[in-house]
Amino acid sequence: MTKKELYLYNTASRLKEQFILLQGASEVKMYACGPTVYHYAHIGNLRTYLFEDLLRRSLEFFGFKVRHVINITDVGHLTSDQDDGEDKMEIGAERTGKTVWEIAEDYTNKFKDDLKRLNILPPTIWCKATDHISEQIKLIETLEAKGYTYRTSDGVYFDSLKFPKYADFARLDIAGLRSGARIDLGEKKFTTDFALWKFSPTDRKRAMEWDSPWGVGFPGWHIECSAMSMAHLGETLDIHCGGTDHVRVHHTNEIAQSECATGKPFARFWLHGEFLRENSSDKMSKSSGDFLTLDLLAEKGFDPIAYRLFSLTSHYRNYLNFSWEAMESAQESLNALRKKTQHFIGLEGKPVSVDAREWSIKFQQYIADDLNSSGALGVLHLMLADSSIQDREKITLLREFDSVFGLRLLDEPNVVEHSAEEIEKVESLVKKRNAAREAKNFVESDRLRDALLEAGVVIKDSKDGTVWKWK
Ligand code: AMP
Ligand code: ZN
Repeated sequence: MTKKELYLYNTASRLKEQFILLQGASEVKMYACGPTVYHYAHIGNLRTYLFEDLLRRSLEFFGFKVRHVINITDVGHLTSDQDDGEDKMEIGAERTGKTVWEIAEDYTNKFKDDLKRLNILPPTIWCKATDHISEQIKLIETLEAKGYTYRTSDGVYFDSLKFPKYADFARLDIAGLRSGARIDLGEKKFTTDFALWKFSPTDRKRAMEWDSPWGVGFPGWHIECSAMSMAHLGETLDIHCGGTDHVRVHHTNEIAQSECATGKPFARFWLHGEFLRENSSDKMSKSSGDFLTLDLLAEKGFDPIAYRLFSLTSHYRNYLNFSWEAMESAQESLNALRKKTQHFIGLEGKPVSVDAREWSIKFQQYIADDLNSSGALGVLHLMLADSSIQDREKITLLREFDSVFGLRLLDEPNVVEHSAEEIEKVESLVKKRNAAREAKNFVESDRLRDALLEAGVVIKDSKDGTVWKWK
């Protein structure tokens, strides 16, 4: 069956546009801004990667081959968008008592593990900012040679007013910014100028710093994504994506520096996922350390795939409000879906009849309309309830739908045998943790809970005692 046309909402035009490849291209060049690895990813961050996975799976479903790049931001960037504040990696290192290099590795591994548990497909290429310092320096040199930069006492800056289209992408009001209250710009010429290279302080050595033609220091945050995406995908990307918070500063700056350096459009489609909110507020902040993780959800007995299902219930461009009640209903809904589909596992599907194909067409219509996952989930439920089609046709349709949803509805349950020795070890850790809790030694009990999680065990405390199970 030929597929419908795929329409995606392009932030650049604020329109839904048909997605097609450029003439002669054989694959979609897609770049997603990755995590800053100074802390765990929170479930808000993970919502964005789930949206990008839905996008990737939908592109593949519509027959495109995708070359997908995710970067790891392991250079310590500053806590404020104004190019000042503290270094995030150094804060993370201080908090954990480890080196910046160690925490980068630990949180990168943890992030990859979260993606795996959510059944997010690994990108074609993972890349790290610290592995691409020379590409970033080269790009800054090109910008400097073309006259787009200026130096101050603390770094090399991009002169944003030299790029006439600077305000277009985020619909910024430059005149308003010009006449608005003058915030302290330091040596910056204009408020939207941003650092390409920052110098290390003269009175101390930074944990991460590199030589450059301008002096020892470190690259600004935005330059890494331009340099890495162009290194792995070429000068014009098909799709660039991230969370909505990136529109105003990070992606605006990526466009400015990339287009000034190459003279070519930087990305044809820009897709942005809206935020997950807790208690209807925006505040799920990684830097505050006060946030929800996938481990916490697992600890409370939720299956990571239930969080995936929860995120599919709303459109990626709408806010999604997190609550424990909503998580419970997502888990119930997943359990109900599994109950309806478990007897299909391991069975062969068969070609679908003309009537059954109607479900496939409806499913495609929703996905083709800017990835309407909640509409498509509705089709899944109706299809499973349709008594006029045979089970083996349902299996074929389910396989097709789940290639996009990624809910693993047809996977064999992962039955892992655990040895008596492993079980004994877990029980002894649980006992020790309970003893620490009773003694109100919460530091020790948290440490033991983390050790249990690390060993693949989740625990649940209730008034009747503590129960544990394998993740
Ligand atoms: P960071 O590690 O802070 O660079 O963020 C990683 C990704 O998560 C970026 O694409 C952000 O736009 C996105 N993000 C941050 N907070 C949220 C949130 N509350 N909901 C959804 N996405 C978010
Ligand atoms: Zn980026």
